[in-house]
Amino acid sequence: MKPRLRFAHLPTPVEPLPRLSALLGGPTLITKRDDQTGLAFGGNKTRKLEYLMYAAQEAGADTLITAGAVQSNHCRQTVAAAARFGMACVLVLFGNPPDPPDGNHLLHYLLGAEVVFTGRERVQQKLEEVYESVLGAGKQPYLIPYGGSNPTGALGYVNAMLELAEQGVDPDWIVFPSSSGGTQAGMLVGAHISGYHGKILGISVDETADELKARVADLAIQTADFIGRQVTFSAEDVLVNDDYLGGGYAVMGSAEVEAIRLFAAYEALLVDPVYTGRAAAGLIDLIRQGFFKPEETVLFWHTGGGPALFARKYQGDLLEIN
Ligand SMILES: *Cc1c(COP(=O)(O)O)cnc(C)c1O
Repeated sequence: MKPRLRFAHLPTPVEPLPRLSALLGGPTLITKRDDQTGLAFGGNKTRKLEYLMYAAQEAGADTLITAGAVQSNHCRQTVAAAARFGMACVLVLFGNPPDPPDGNHLLHYLLGAEVVFTGRERVQQKLEEVYESVLGAGKQPYLIPYGGSNPTGALGYVNAMLELAEQGVDPDWIVFPSSSGGTQAGMLVGAHISGYHGKILGISVDETADELKARVADLAIQTADFIGRQVTFSAEDVLVNDDYLGGGYAVMGSAEVEAIRLFAAYEALLVDPVYTGRAAAGLIDLIRQGFFKPEETVLFWHTGGGPALFARKYQGDLLEIN
């Protein structure tokens, strides 16, 4: 493995979900609490950033640059890492900025980001402009990719799978939200190393299964190669379910609302409108369809996202009683 900075709260706990298991009447449900990784409310990006921040420091960087949606957890955690290690951070954001800022976006400002807004299709161009202007100001920029998903970032989830094995936890299934693919790619490589034989099922948040499978397989190959392991992964090795895309990225529908309420009221587990709420909705639906065997154990890997619950745009629907 490659070196990393150490700031995540690891290992994250694995906890049973007895009330939800009983309510849904399916397999045994457990969860791994990566919503508790530390770094400004935690989430899966903390693990990736331990490796990315080491690389940024090695490169002599003093300014991080990254991009995401206005309620991006990745951007919140990246600017938090910058604050923690005394770097500046420029965020290139797309979407409608809430006024006044709320949820993750409020935290972007509190944590000290310089924020640049642009249209979704112009993000790449804007990142290049920002990079040049930081260089032009005599500073040393370091570009962190969308979602922290490159081979360096994905190592966070290679390590997470080794951590799970060390905890002696061996579920039949791991279920979680998958989007830019770094989490799932890292898990696949980590499973290969740890000998995990269960299934790793990503619930797609915003893309078709074909697109996401191809990206995850590609990134998994690159990640393995990066740590000196020649392993091939094909799209068929990657399990993705895209049945729960609903109204699209960051559009919270009735399935997410139900999942958010059930996880909160039965297990005091806070899942979010964009990622973990969608994956939880998918998990609930798969259980109701009888997809899992009753004797199986399913680990819901909680990747975080909680601050988006405090975005005003979701609050009306979250509070409406059906
Ligand atoms: C970024 C994010 C994901 C998706 O992880 P990827 O590595 O981008 O696939 C899932 N859940 C939450 C809460 C996230 O912020």
